[in-house]
Amino acid sequence: MPDLCTVDEALARVLERTVPLAAERVATPASLGRVLREAVVSAVALPPFPSSAMDGYAVRAEDTPGVLPIAFRVAAGSPAASPLPAGAAAGVATGGVVPDGANAVVPIEDVREMDAEVAISAATAAGRNVRPRGGDVVPGDLVLEAGTRVSASHIGALSAVGVGEVVCSARPRVAVIATGSELRAAGEDLLPGQIYESNRAMLAAAISTTGAQVEVLPVVEDKAKAHAEVLERALAADVVVSSGGVSVGPHDLVRRVARGLGVEEVFWGVAVKPGKPLSFGTKGRTLVFGLPGNPVSSLVCAVVFVRTALWALQGRMPALPEYEPGRTPVALARNAHRDEFIRARRRIDGESVVLEPLSGQESHMIVHAAAADALVHVPRGDDAVPAGSPVRYLNLV
Ligand code: AMP
Ligand code: MG
Repeated sequence: MPDLCTVDEALARVLERTVPLAAERVATPASLGRVLREAVVSAVALPPFPSSAMDGYAVRAEDTPGVLPIAFRVAAGSPAASPLPAGAAAGVATGGVVPDGANAVVPIEDVREMDAEVAISAATAAGRNVRPRGGDVVPGDLVLEAGTRVSASHIGALSAVGVGEVVCSARPRVAVIATGSELRAAGEDLLPGQIYESNRAMLAAAISTTGAQVEVLPVVEDKAKAHAEVLERALAADVVVSSGGVSVGPHDLVRRVARGLGVEEVFWGVAVKPGKPLSFGTKGRTLVFGLPGNPVSSLVCAVVFVRTALWALQGRMPALPEYEPGRTPVALARNAHRDEFIRARRRIDGESVVLEPLSGQESHMIVHAAAADALVHVPRGDDAVPAGSPVRYLNLV
């Protein structure tokens, strides 16, 4: 294997070759999880009028305490009938228009209601329980930036400012391939030398969290012709993700066959554990990732590299993996040449996140790895990371 590139170099090379997909209009309710390609600016003020924070009576604060005649009631969804006369109160519901002239709302719980009057026993202050016009947003304010991944609260904000459609990135189309003559499907009997195929469904799951549309292609035997048939189909997608067949063995055919189909290799070999034999290339705008077959290696490469590409294709800011800070409770040995991603479980200890490394860190141990909710990044180096040290991790859930 040639010189390995570092994780950061590999990510930079992937990003350099990633051309954002087209943008399309999407109805706001359907934009959950999608990436905005255009900023959204409010055309309205919120609230659009001074509104009441409580069910109660709009008054002039200077008229309290006192017994005030009820001049009128403001119906929900209607403007106030007229300005509030001095020395009077107007009934108003939560969210209702506070009439001109009023500067406070006394909650219903704090008044005694009579037929045509309310008795207010304590003085209130100007501004109390009145939500000023534009207190949340005024026309021209930025609601969401381009590059935002839309969440439930974003959908609430968009809807509140009356935006029914947004411009989002097209969803990347991803073709997932597994290679290996030893691979069988669940439900089949395993003959000696065979194992169940597990990477396609796992990779599809890891990738679809980015909003990608995943097509899972048939398992490919370790024969060049079978590779070529399936890879050729896969190359119609925006991203090809294959697993297995990228190491140095005689059955490792993915890179050679991909090259034969016109894929230009950008790198092969990353200084990372697990995941060292990762290959990456392009054909036109299609990105082609050759992930190693060991299931944990495949998972780590999908989380660190493939997801980054999928976010960049959609214009998400930031596209790079978002590390979070934590602490290791035990010393961590370091690999002199390769950064490691250690599978760990998180727990909260006071103010910090403690990352307990799991047993069974080998790259074939997917069942052990499944207990992890974090991937701890251990940079390459000679000395161990001491117990109690800060570390950074990627959230796996
Ligand atoms: P390879 O990268 O093809 O040399 O495969 C490395 C190891 O991962 C071998 O033990 C394979 O049997 C295993 N492996 C490869 N692909 C898969 C898969 N799709 N599901 C489960 N294990 C796999
Ligand atoms: Mg193989």
